[in-house]
Parts: sequence; structure tokens; C-alpha cells
Amino acid sequence: MKLPWKNLRPRVSLAAAVLGVAVLLGAVARADRPYAPSRDYHLQNVRVSLHFDLEQRKVMGEVTHTLSTLRDGVTHLDFDCAEITVSSARVNGKDAAFDLRDDKLRVRLAQPAKSGEKFEVELKYEGKPTSGLYFILPDKDDPDRAKEIWTQGEAEDTHHYIPIYDYPNDRTTSEMILTVPGDWLTVSNGRLLSVQDAPNGQKTWTWRQSLPISTYLISFVAGEYKEKKDTWHNIPVTYNVPRGMDDTIDPTFRHTKEMLDFFSDRFGVPYPWDQYAQTAVHDFVASGMENVSATTLAARDIVHAELASERPEAADGLISHEMTHQWFGDLVTCKDWTNTWLNEGFATFGATLWEEHYYGVDASGYRYWREQNTWMQSRELYPIPIVTRDINDSVEYVGNVYDKAGWVIHMLREQLGDEPFFRALKHYLEANRLQNVVSADLAKAVEESSGTNVDQFFDQWIYGAGAPRFVVRSAYDDAGMKVSLSVKQTQKVEGHVGLFRVPIEVSITTSSGEKLFPIEVSKADETFSFPVDGPPLMVLFDKGDKILKSVDFQKSPEDWIRQLRTAPDVPDRADAAFALGNLRENEAAANALGDAALHDKFWGVREEALRALGRMNSSPARKQVLAALSNDQPWVRAVAVEQMGKYHGDEEIAKRLQNIYKDDKAYSVRSAALQSLALDKAPNAEPILEKALTISSPDDVLRHAALRAMGSLGDSSVVSALLEWSSPGKPSALRGIAIGSLGRVDLKNHDITSRLISYLNESSFDIRYASIFALGHRGDPTAIEPLEALLKTGQLSIGVPHAMEDLIEKLKGKAAPQKGPSGEDQKNGDAATASNNNQPVLDRLDHLEHQLTDMNDRLRRIEASVSGGKSD
Ligand SMILES: [Zn+2]
Repeated sequence: MKLPWKNLRPRVSLAAAVLGVAVLLGAVARADRPYAPSRDYHLQNVRVSLHFDLEQRKVMGEVTHTLSTLRDGVTHLDFDCAEITVSSARVNGKDAAFDLRDDKLRVRLAQPAKSGEKFEVELKYEGKPTSGLYFILPDKDDPDRAKEIWTQGEAEDTHHYIPIYDYPNDRTTSEMILTVPGDWLTVSNGRLLSVQDAPNGQKTWTWRQSLPISTYLISFVAGEYKEKKDTWHNIPVTYNVPRGMDDTIDPTFRHTKEMLDFFSDRFGVPYPWDQYAQTAVHDFVASGMENVSATTLAARDIVHAELASERPEAADGLISHEMTHQWFGDLVTCKDWTNTWLNEGFATFGATLWEEHYYGVDASGYRYWREQNTWMQSRELYPIPIVTRDINDSVEYVGNVYDKAGWVIHMLREQLGDEPFFRALKHYLEANRLQNVVSADLAKAVEESSGTNVDQFFDQWIYGAGAPRFVVRSAYDDAGMKVSLSVKQTQKVEGHVGLFRVPIEVSITTSSGEKLFPIEVSKADETFSFPVDGPPLMVLFDKGDKILKSVDFQKSPEDWIRQLRTAPDVPDRADAAFALGNLRENEAAANALGDAALHDKFWGVREEALRALGRMNSSPARKQVLAALSNDQPWVRAVAVEQMGKYHGDEEIAKRLQNIYKDDKAYSVRSAALQSLALDKAPNAEPILEKALTISSPDDVLRHAALRAMGSLGDSSVVSALLEWSSPGKPSALRGIAIGSLGRVDLKNHDITSRLISYLNESSFDIRYASIFALGHRGDPTAIEPLEALLKTGQLSIGVPHAMEDLIEKLKGKAAPQKGPSGEDQKNGDAATASNNNQPVLDRLDHLEHQLTDMNDRLRRIEASVSGGKSD
């Protein structure tokens, strides 16, 4: 599964960010079942037949489970079952007693079964699910939208539309029989067996998945889609998008077949399924979901044809992530959610592997560098191991099983070497093919295939938490002709965090060239000594950034400038750019950064140089930022424009920003200019933003940017525009952004709070979540009651209630009378004060928005790497 904040378009709003949060939470494992349940039976086949009442948003179904018992004395068969009414149950053709309690359907057997006994259980049912299966239909906001029905099984939602065993630790073959309007298309797992006429002009589509899969990976999509057909090695490859979005197909899916070749070759196991279908759907609950042989994607994350030239990365990150899952996650599946990293870590790793292959090692190295820095700064993620049964906070869980786990797999590759590493992956896939795994299965596969024992590696990186925080100092001994390196591990050794034992490559360059010294660091405080033939010009600790870590390495400005100019690897140059950004008034540093911002051979270093200049926020830095506006690549230019948002009250900057907004060819740069005008509180920002709302652009990018910028402007003059664009009848994507911005303006205005509260009752997933988090941001305690009411309905996807409880708790903390700074009781109801005291929640929202910004940067990096790879 791919979480949405990884893939949102550049210039997304807080609304989208918090929406991302909600869905991100929705995507992760349910905390109450960290252990796989014990089983009474093994599912062998699931035959599902569904038809639909669109007006009622109702599903009518029949399912036949073929199963065999796993022990003697089984008296009943339990199926997970929620939001479903079962009208009949038959066992081996005879009526059976059944009852439904606590989301479990219990079907009684006529007599206790013996181990290995086979049963056919037929159930007839109907339901109006609020999760698991979703009806996307035209409404007042989007009257022309295509009709769609799609499913989302992960984590445990399949049982909202099929009474079924709903945990990953069993595998079954499946048949999906869908009766839908005659002009609809359907996509499901495996092979399409037939399409037959059905009554009332409908058609019945029969799909069969002939290799066994975990039930959360069962899926279908049905609706008014446009299909493009292709083949790869004699299997059907299809691309499907909602009607009217045909021109997104080529820019989005263009690398699919090349990726199928690449991954089949790299993983050493050919793509294992009967087809590969990719279908973009509206309002999807994630960015993508790796349903077996039939990936579902979010329509908002695919590539608009008119923006393709501005986003040459297409949707490669998303496409390659989901495709990697077809091996890691689908062919081999985690046994329980505690081992989700075996799915998500590999999918994250696979996407970067493709990036390295197609866009080059500079692009993938830069991605790892950025992910490392984001992860190392996360105080929440740091003390939690990748594998933990104590999943109290789903947010922490997610950051580790995706990004950190991807990094850990990357380190495993570095430490084993390519040949043994990929041999181990092949062995792991073959040995566990069509089975469910735990982390130890991977360690075992590595040892069996390469002889390398990785127990210590797993202990510190998978079952242990944290990563080393190094403080490094170097000294040159002129007389002894040696460089000594003092290396300290400064992370607090407590809980799951220990001292690390890691291989490090030290690089020392003198006038005669570079020498490499491999060392192993394992103690809290060590000193290493290296013979040299003269004074060192450059000393790199962990050259090329091969270990997940942070390093505090004191160097002179001259040394950093030399490193920025000459270090061969992107992470080392990016480190230097960052360090130089701390030298606020140093003109030589600003000049070096300005030079890198225009001339570094990799665009990512150009961006880092610009960010460093932005942090300097000094007069020499300002000059260099403006000079970098001549950058050819729009994504680098956009970063320069973002830095201009830091010069409040600077008339010349405001003027330049207006011109950029008017004249730049790239929508992303124009959008950045709107945001910077707002951040600068430029005197005429408000009318410019209002005007931008009247301009049509592809995917409405300019309206997105203007609505988001209005939230940053924070001025009450924008309230009426935001209220208007948040209203029913406006396109839902724009409504979500306007709602997010309403979370940040005129915090004392209770009318805004009331309006947001009224949106909590809407049927749209996106609007509800945007409103929930906007209310959290406003901190107005009058939102408590309606939020609690919404929570009670239970109509929220997994994980969201947890976040909402947290949010309500904070708002309540505010509602209680509190001692103010001067000792008197403060009255509740003052939204601005409430908001200030609501800081932990706000911090978390801001943190997530920050993460989202990073993801957008990443998007631009991928975009850039296409042309970067060609022109450098
Ligand atoms: Zn995934």
C-alpha cells in the first residue's frame, strides 16, 4: 500500500496534508490484533458473487467458502463479518444455524468435525458498507463524475463486504463474479474467464485467482472506466482510468512493462500472476494498493497530460512501489501486521531500486539522504523498533515500516554486496513463495543463500530501535603523518536503543588523491588513526552515506566549501550545503552555495544549496537566491521561489514574485510564487490570490495554490473566499484545501468553526477528514461534541478514531478552566488561546505537513532526475 502523502502533487494544502494523515492512519495495521489469530480451518477457495443497488449504495452477495478443518472437535466455523446482514447459511448443501456477534459470524456444524474434514459453506447476505467497499457516484459537488465501485481490503476490511476469514495468515484461491451495468468495466484478481449477458441490460463478469492469496488482497473495481490494453510476455497488461481521464494513461503508465522486466530480472523470480492491471479510481483511501495482479491507484496521483512536461517523473514512484509488492507482499505476505515491514520496507526499497536503475545513483542516493534526515529528526519514530507488538501509536509504526525499513534493506544490500544480496532475495521469494512470513524467514534466507549470519544486523536494525548519532572530530598530526579520528556514539542508550556496530568507510583526500579506510565502529567512544602522505584536504566519515545515522563533524568553512565543490557523491555535497547554511553572514559560504545552486551537476544539490541559502536569510544569501531564478529546471526554480517567502516586507522581492507568478512557464513555479507572496505578507497578496481563484489551469493547480496560500496569509480578509470555496457545489478537491486553510485563519471566529462542524456530516471521505483536522487546528472547544458524535457513529476507517480521540482529548484539555500565566482562571471558548494550548496536536499536524512538503520535494526530485539524467 502506498500512503497518500507520498504522492500528492506539489503545492498541496494543509487540508490535503491532514487528509493524508487520516488516510495514513487508516492504512496501517489495527493495533488490537498484533498477533495472528489461531485458526480452526484453512480456506481453500472463496467464490463470491455480487450485485449492487447503486441508489441505496447496497451490495447483495453470495459467498461459497471451501475449507478444511485444522483440528479435531471443531463445532462451528467463525467468519469475520461487519456491516452485513446474513439471510441464510448452508453447510455442505444443508441449512445451518448461525448467529452474528461482535463482527463474527458463527456457523454451527451438525456434529464436531475431525481435522482435515472438508466443508462447503454458502452464505447469502447484503450490506451497506462504510468501509471495505466504496460507491463513488455523481453528487452535487461533482455531477458529471464517472460511477465507480471499488474495494480496499487492507488492513482488515474485506469482511465489510464478504463474510470471510480476514487476517493475512491464511491463503486461498478466489473467484469474483460481478453483475454490473452493461457499459461498465470490471477488474479483479487473476484471469477474466467470461463476460456474459445478464437481465436488465447488465453483464456478469467472472474472474478467477488461481494461486492462493491472503484475503486482504482480494479486490475488485467496477464502473465507468476507460481501458487501454497491452500485453507483456503473453499476459494481459491493462491500464484503466475513470471515464474522461483517458489522456492520463500514457504519461502515468509509460514505464510499466519496462518495470516488469526490471523487477523480474532483479528479484530473480518472474512476475508471478496471470495479468497486471492498474486502475486509477476517484477518492481512493490511499495512493495505491497492491491487490494481487490488479493494483488500485488514486486518480489524484496520476499524471495530467498538460503537466507531464512539468512532471517528467510521471507516477514512477507510485507505480514501482505497488509493482514491487506483487512479489513482496503478495507472492510472499507478512503473517501478521507486526511484520508489515516485509511488505512495505521492500516496496519502498523497490521504488528506489527502480529510481537508481532508471534515473541514476545520484537520484536514489539523494532520496536516501533526505529520508535519513527526516527520519533521524523524528523523536516519535526513533525509540520504536521496526518490529514491535506494542503498537500504541500508528503514526510511529508507519514511519518505521516504510522509510526506515527501506533504508535498512538498502544497508543490508550495501553490507552483503549486490550479488549475495540479490541471490538472497531470490531465495527468500522462492523458499516462501505463496506463503506467509515473519522477519526470521528473511534472516534465514540470507544465511542459507550467502552463508552470512545477519542475526546481529537484525537485532540492531529490526528488533532494536534508533540509529547511531555520531560526533566525529579529526586532527592531523604533521610529524607522525597521520589523521586521527575521534568517533563518539552519542545516542542515549536506553529502552530499545543500544550502541551500534556498523562498518564505516572513511575517505581521506590529500594533494596526491583519495584513500579509503574501512573501519568498524562499535563503542561509545573510539579513536582511529590513518596514515597519510600529507595534510588532508577532505575527510569523509561514511563516504557516500551508506549507514542510517546522523553525524556532527566539525569542519572549517573552507573545508565545507571544498567538500561542496569536489566530493564525488551527492550525499556528501548535500551535507556540505547544509553545513554552510549555518554560517549566516559568511559571504564566501553564500557565494559557494550560490555557485552550487546554479552549477552543481545534480539538481538535488542545487536544491539543497538553495534551502541552505534560505536558512541563512542574509543579504549575501538573498543575492544568490535571486541569481538562481535563472535555473532551467522548474523544480529547482520553485525551490528558489520558496526561499523568497522568507523576506517579509522586501518590496523588490514582492515585485519579483508577482512577475514570476504572471510570467513563469511552469505552473509549479507560479504556484510557489503565490505561496511566497502569502508568506511574505506582501501588501497586495490578498487581491492577487483572489484573482488567481478565477483562473483555470490543468488539475486546477493555481486554484489549489491560491487556496492554500490563503491559509498561509492567515488574514481575515480571505475568510469569505475560503468559505465560498469550501461550500458544497465546488469541486471536492478544492473544497478540501479551502477547509484546510480555514483551520488556520481568524481563529476566534466561531462562524468558521460552525461551518466546519456542518461539513462533518457529509458523505465524502475527503471532506470529513479535512474538516476533522481543520477543527483540530482551530482548537475551538465547541467542536468537541460534534466530533464525539461522529466518533460514535463508527463510520470512520481504521486508525482515524484513534487520532480523533487524541484530538478530542486535547480540545477537552482546553475546555477545562486553566490557570493562565498570571494565575487567574482563563475562560474557555477563546479559540486563539485554546489553539495555543493545543500545541502538541498542532505540532503533530505541522510535523506531518512538513513531511508532506518533503514528499513534494521528492516528487520534484524524481521529475528533475529525468531531465537531469539526460542533460548531465
Ligand atoms: Zn505499500
